[in-house]
Amino acid sequence: MDSGEPVVKRRVAPGAPRRPRGRARRGSIPVTGVGTPEYRNVSAKPAGLVRRIGPGSWIAAGVIAAALVAALAPTSAAWVEQTYSRQWYVAAQRILTPVSALVPFSLLDVLAIAGLLGLGIWWWRGLRGAGTDWRSRSAVAARLMLHTAAAAAALYLVFLAMWGLNYRRMPLTAKLDYDAARISPEALASLAAESVDRLNALHAPAAAEPWLSFGELPGRFGPAFDRVQRRLGARRPAVAGRPKTTLLTAYFRRAGIDGMLSPFTLEVLVNGTVLPFERPFLVAHEWSHLAGYANESEASFVGVLVCLAGDAQSRYSAWLYLSSQLVRHLPADARDRVWAGLDGGPRADLRAIAARLREAVPVVRRGASRVYDRYLRANRVAAGIASYGLVVDLLLGTDGTPTWRGLAGRIDASAAQPPAPRR
Ligand SMILES: [Zn+2]
Repeated sequence: MDSGEPVVKRRVAPGAPRRPRGRARRGSIPVTGVGTPEYRNVSAKPAGLVRRIGPGSWIAAGVIAAALVAALAPTSAAWVEQTYSRQWYVAAQRILTPVSALVPFSLLDVLAIAGLLGLGIWWWRGLRGAGTDWRSRSAVAARLMLHTAAAAAALYLVFLAMWGLNYRRMPLTAKLDYDAARISPEALASLAAESVDRLNALHAPAAAEPWLSFGELPGRFGPAFDRVQRRLGARRPAVAGRPKTTLLTAYFRRAGIDGMLSPFTLEVLVNGTVLPFERPFLVAHEWSHLAGYANESEASFVGVLVCLAGDAQSRYSAWLYLSSQLVRHLPADARDRVWAGLDGGPRADLRAIAARLREAVPVVRRGASRVYDRYLRANRVAAGIASYGLVVDLLLGTDGTPTWRGLAGRIDASAAQPPAPRR
């Protein structure tokens, strides 16, 4: 490792005693960073508060304070929407996502491994360079903890700048022709029944050709992603990302996680064990995060629109997701009635999905859900993990509006008939 200082080789006179090796010699090895005299001599001759704490620690405290302010300070949703989400974020995304797509592996995996290794080496060197007495070691440990907290705070600030501020943009309900009055038990039952009809109709055309691999999806329905973003008001749409499998797949499978967006590298990471007919909707959902729709229900809603703007396979994939979301909110008898209309093909596919999800380990799954719930709440998503289910509200609250025009014939079909009374 580069010491950062010129290495001077000393001549040793014949017969002169050799300098001790190992522990006793460590204090004389010039090293940068944590092993520096600032770390080693923390207990030696403190002269004043600044010297005792060290300028590095003041900077660390400043970074932590900045992160706390960023986490707690109110932000203007209109500013985030207009300046951050629609301009700065998209400009960066249009560069970063294609760059991260140049390599087939997950850059987040590389960063995470390098970060964890670096942290371990940093602590090891810091503690190794500390004196042998308890006071000196505890002072070094305290300083390492402070600097580790500062590194975490800096990471949080990078997260906010790279993607996280999207949690604070204006909600879709404020940007679309959304009306909560459209949400009613009748509308829910009607859309649930429609989902079964659509699945029955789409199963054969979707299965007529082999299901696309993750790698084929961007080429096939990247244009639909672009079209839907423009419909939702984007003048410069985000670009589609290459779905990548990750070293986290083993964990994803046990935790029941299908995919995620890496906020630091703006790449889409997927659980490689999801079933072929789940792939289009999963990727469309993650792409929606990539387009700055951080909220889960909004990402699912935009993902559904993207799939419905695509081909038979992506539409089938979206309705598979939607049918479960819709039917679960129905009373038990209505649920049974709707499912009774489902043909064998889609029924087998839904069973296969349920079987896959049963492979999750309950304790890992609960742990992952709890962590994600806290993460969402920390990012000002008041509903936490329950926000996933709000996609049904978005669907029903915008049903029949121009948002849906031309998507799988939904609004066109309803326009050909007399308008159904809405509550
Ligand atoms: Zn998501």
